[in-house]
Amino acid sequence: MAICEDRVIAHVDLDAFYAQVEMVRLGVDEEAPLCVQQWEGVIAVNYPARKRGVTRFDKAGEVKKKCPECILVHVEVLSEEQEQPKAKVSLARYREASARIFKLILREIERVERASIDEAYLDLTDMVKKRRGIRDNDENLSRASDSIILGEGLDPSRKDDLSLIIGSEITSDLRRMIREELGYTCSAGVAHNKTLAKLASAMNKPNCQTLVPNSCVQGLMEKLPFRKIRQLGGKLGGELEALGVETAAQVQCYNLEELSRRFGQKDAHFVFDIVRGIDRSEVVPRSKPKSMLAAKSLSGEQDWDGVNRWLRMLASELHDRMLFDEEVNVREARNLVISFKSGSVPRTTSKTLPMPRGQSNRLERMLKEMQSLLRNTPSFSFPIDFLGLTATNFEDKPADNESINKFLKPSAPGSHQAPIEKVQASKNENPGIKKWLLGPKAPPDPEKQAEELSQETADFLLAKKLQRDDDIEASRQYSTGKSGRAQLKKPRRGTIDSFLQKAPD
Ligand SMILES: [Mg+2]
Repeated sequence: MAICEDRVIAHVDLDAFYAQVEMVRLGVDEEAPLCVQQWEGVIAVNYPARKRGVTRFDKAGEVKKKCPECILVHVEVLSEEQEQPKAKVSLARYREASARIFKLILREIERVERASIDEAYLDLTDMVKKRRGIRDNDENLSRASDSIILGEGLDPSRKDDLSLIIGSEITSDLRRMIREELGYTCSAGVAHNKTLAKLASAMNKPNCQTLVPNSCVQGLMEKLPFRKIRQLGGKLGGELEALGVETAAQVQCYNLEELSRRFGQKDAHFVFDIVRGIDRSEVVPRSKPKSMLAAKSLSGEQDWDGVNRWLRMLASELHDRMLFDEEVNVREARNLVISFKSGSVPRTTSKTLPMPRGQSNRLERMLKEMQSLLRNTPSFSFPIDFLGLTATNFEDKPADNESINKFLKPSAPGSHQAPIEKVQASKNENPGIKKWLLGPKAPPDPEKQAEELSQETADFLLAKKLQRDDDIEASRQYSTGKSGRAQLKKPRRGTIDSFLQKAPD
């Protein structure tokens, strides 16, 4: 099978991430059950709580009934008001933990693609090539000793298998560093492409890594519901389902011509390859969020007092995150976008200001400029139903001569170019978050637009999605009784069946 054998790709995925962040933050014993809640809903369930039957579909009250000893941690509430309509939640804790993890990953691995707040693809190909030398086969095999190997195992005399073994060693080292330095466990998949690596990382959660040798790929596809393949979960997958097929191998029965007739040439080629485990997509180095947004849907603020209160709260949240980002990522946002929804016929308006430069008194300068801008904006009229502040257009800060540059180019609030205005008329009452986030320079590419989604909303939805995925994954673990934290002594051979079969609760 013509799989890209030269590449070694790992997919790393933190285990029940939000829950782990709280466990580390609060120093909770790793065997203690813990859930993260937002109001009455549960957005993250750690593995000890899952063992006790808690799921993300439970309400907080149900969690306590199922597991009275379960620790419930509410996401951070920024506002003094603790009731839902007037309160502002923040996911900063999780973003900051994510930034620390990515900083560590980038220290060790050159080609890193941030797939989400807690997931990354790593292209290990060059590192593997450098490490690949003449090694004793037994020694090589032992280097994959903390991995589960799908199918019939690995043959270190094969170049592709040896590459996987070395990739596994690098991934294992990285996971150990994340654990030892930051306290988090993660799972990983190591394969020859992104799709297979992503499938594999979900197979043996938590705290385990899974290898996908080329020799097992067809066996995997025989039983794999094609919907589990990351790009076939949506519309295209729905169209395939209409053919009455379930597994990837069943889709293989359609030749390229038949697929082209049904789906067009481009999608046909993609489907033809992907159900055979072929994925040529690159790991695109990207590790930092492109923008940061602090936003709040309001229930019709009627006056400046209310608006100013929210502006201060949002600006303060954004400013805190910017300070952290400046420290971790050594960069500065150049633009500040204000979005608001106002008027009796709701309209979405976004305006871009240059971000006040320099940290000194910056929060106050941001507020002053925003208030001045809004007061001079004709479309800003009460009631206000939404406010959002986005820091964007990041530029790396010079590592050296920073203070000299600052001296030479002092921040000049109030002396910059005129704000850029962008007004969008809403066609309905609830235009959806995507619309809010189309910044003035938003590219038309839908994939890029999706990245501009509210980080907060995206993180929250992601947390839910991850939890759902994790729940499914947890129920499909190998029935080996592994605790999840224990490291294995010998290489293990995994069967594909164990991933596909649902274990009894
Ligand atoms: Mg995860």
